[in-house]
Amino acid sequence: MLGSYVSSFRYSEVYKIVYPRRHEGIYKNRGDNPWVSIRIRQGVGRDPSKWFSNQLRVIAEVSSRYGDGRAMLGTRGDIEIFKVDFRLFDEVVARLREVGLDPRDSCGNSVRNPIPCTSQFCPYAHINAEALSTFIGDYFRYRSEYEYPSLPHRIKISISACERACAAPVAQDIGIVAKPNGKFDVYLGGGIGEHAFSAKLAFTDVNAEDLLPICIGVAEVFRRSGERRGFKWVVKLRGLDKVKEEVMAIAREVKPKLPKPPDLSPKLIKSRIAVIKYPTGWVSADELVQLADVAEKYGFGYVLLFNNQSVYIPIRENVDRIAELGNYEIRDPGPIYPEGPITVACLGNELCPPGS
Ligand code: SF4
Repeated sequence: MLGSYVSSFRYSEVYKIVYPRRHEGIYKNRGDNPWVSIRIRQGVGRDPSKWFSNQLRVIAEVSSRYGDGRAMLGTRGDIEIFKVDFRLFDEVVARLREVGLDPRDSCGNSVRNPIPCTSQFCPYAHINAEALSTFIGDYFRYRSEYEYPSLPHRIKISISACERACAAPVAQDIGIVAKPNGKFDVYLGGGIGEHAFSAKLAFTDVNAEDLLPICIGVAEVFRRSGERRGFKWVVKLRGLDKVKEEVMAIAREVKPKLPKPPDLSPKLIKSRIAVIKYPTGWVSADELVQLADVAEKYGFGYVLLFNNQSVYIPIRENVDRIAELGNYEIRDPGPIYPEGPITVACLGNELCPPGS
């Protein structure tokens, strides 16, 4: 427990104490202070894209009580709060867990949230991407061999329920794309950052029960490589063919011991979608409460988060106006990017230590 062994601290100690715990969902905020941000994702067993109204209210509560009253929508379906005294981290996490939220494995060296497209609200979906994401994400959660210090860097996975690929597979370490024939394409070795790499198509016509073994194969190859710049460098330096061989050797070995994937049949929920865009992703605690109110009054009690820092509220089909919201649009279910590319923003230099 951070709070139990730190009664006072020096600036340098904050980094020393916080950095080894980053995989627990914690980042040091910029400056000579005890502030950290907490990046929150859904707990084990939960659809990572669905944020229920009671959860939004609790994030508003902890952001106001422990942080600076703001939250940021991430690009992996996460929500981050800021300027929390790091000595209160465990207390905040305990409150979040009461409503099924859990920051662990959202930061640092960990297997991050395998972000699914919003397939339950898209008629093009060949599969239930949210169910596949929950299945793969749950396997890696809390596994010390795939967290700091065993894992040398993060691993990012995305799942697109059709070949329109809204979940940006080429920008991931592992990009999974469902095909009309019931099988999957898997891309490996993408990533953004100082050196951007486009993932390459590594496996095609993969069966659903081979996806988790392949993800474990990638995580193992990466873990054993010790490459601190990320899996994309392993692919670049060893070559795709060699990495594919290594991944498949491990996948074949682990497959017999693994659980089978759940039913992945597409599940379309009848609704319309209210879209609220938050430029740069910042949302105030008051706005989170308002979103919770709207989801309860006009929809199904939850909102959807995806990879573009917007909030999608599924609403009942007979709703054509939401009096409480100022700037929004209502659209029929469908691809999340019908309008083409969008711009997202990082945290910037106010709070991020390397930010310039
Ligand atoms: S169009 Fe986009 S949101 Fe719809 S199923 Fe395909 S990838 Fe998913």
